[in-house]
Amino acid sequence: MSAVEPILLTPGPLTTSARTRQAMMIDWGSWDDRFNQLTASLCEQLLAIVNGAATHHCVPLQGSGTFAVEAAIGTLVPRDGKVLVLINGAYGKRLAKICEVLGRSFSTFETAEDEPTTAADVDRLLRADNGITHVALIHCETSTGILNPLPEIAQVVAEHGKRLIIDAMSSFGALPVDAQQVPFDALIAASGKCLEGVPGMGFVFARKESLASAAGNSHSLAMDLQDQHAYMAKTGQWRFTPPTHVVAALHEALLQYNEEGGLPARHERYAANCQALMEEMGNLGLRSFLPTAIQAPIIATFHAPKDPRYQFKEFYERVKAKGYILYPGKLTQVETFRVGCIGHVQPAEMREAVAAIGEVLREMEVLDI
Ligand SMILES: *Cc1c(COP(=O)(O)O)cnc(C)c1O
Repeated sequence: MSAVEPILLTPGPLTTSARTRQAMMIDWGSWDDRFNQLTASLCEQLLAIVNGAATHHCVPLQGSGTFAVEAAIGTLVPRDGKVLVLINGAYGKRLAKICEVLGRSFSTFETAEDEPTTAADVDRLLRADNGITHVALIHCETSTGILNPLPEIAQVVAEHGKRLIIDAMSSFGALPVDAQQVPFDALIAASGKCLEGVPGMGFVFARKESLASAAGNSHSLAMDLQDQHAYMAKTGQWRFTPPTHVVAALHEALLQYNEEGGLPARHERYAANCQALMEEMGNLGLRSFLPTAIQAPIIATFHAPKDPRYQFKEFYERVKAKGYILYPGKLTQVETFRVGCIGHVQPAEMREAVAAIGEVLREMEVLDI
């Protein structure tokens, strides 16, 4: 990477390897057998990460992550279904918004941004409303980096005979989920997060029977995962123009993922990144928003310094000039900023990034932190 290209400490797009970017130097035709094999191989490898080959299909979809979330809800929730949306941040709110726009009946349960939803909450809510057919949950809520207790919630949802839709966008590939242990109808992720591909496609692991019985649910042609899957199963091709370069980059990123040691290695590196970040920020006196126990090693939120000389925009620009891209806070109540732990970065780079943050705060004469 050349000196002018900053390191992205953001939850996507994120820093990718030169090898992954290099994989985009070929123009593929969508009718090309080799490209269709690339797609098939991609889906197979993705399914292996969740141990889902026996029970689920992997349905890729063009677009950003939200496209895949919207497609999953539109395809898998029947028009007379009702979704219980569990919220503790902006992405949970987006799930509710999707239900609203798609005209699916829904109710919400919201906890504070530093409070995980519990299985007991879900149990109580499902007892109180038998009309609920689906529960929608954010695994790691990227607004803060909070981890919701997915296995426990999945268990309760299954005990009630309801179906679970998981937005695992920012956790998939780094935090383990085994489809044979954690029951779900859909788990949604995307190319440009923990797999370290480039942005441009999402994918949904959809339970085979649920997908098979979902014909006609979707409000949209382009967002219909049942149709997307049926066409791909029949022809080996994407229904509409595939994001060829994104597919090629993700395929290359997955080779590196497996060479690195797969999910355990990816998790370990991100955990080390997060640990290095927390230590160094602590040394500067910057406080983490979440307690360690509920912090996922994906993205961390820090309280902004109290000093009136601190302004995020200036802080951001100065840190960027030193080679690191930070992420603004997304909280309504408190002023914060975020630092991503994911991407093709190592703990040493996290420490260098925090050193740059320290220099900038001194330059800005921000003393009250
Ligand atoms: C990144 C992300 C998404 C998708 O966002 P896009 O901007 O559409 O890619 C959805 N949910 C979560 C939890 C995310 O982190």
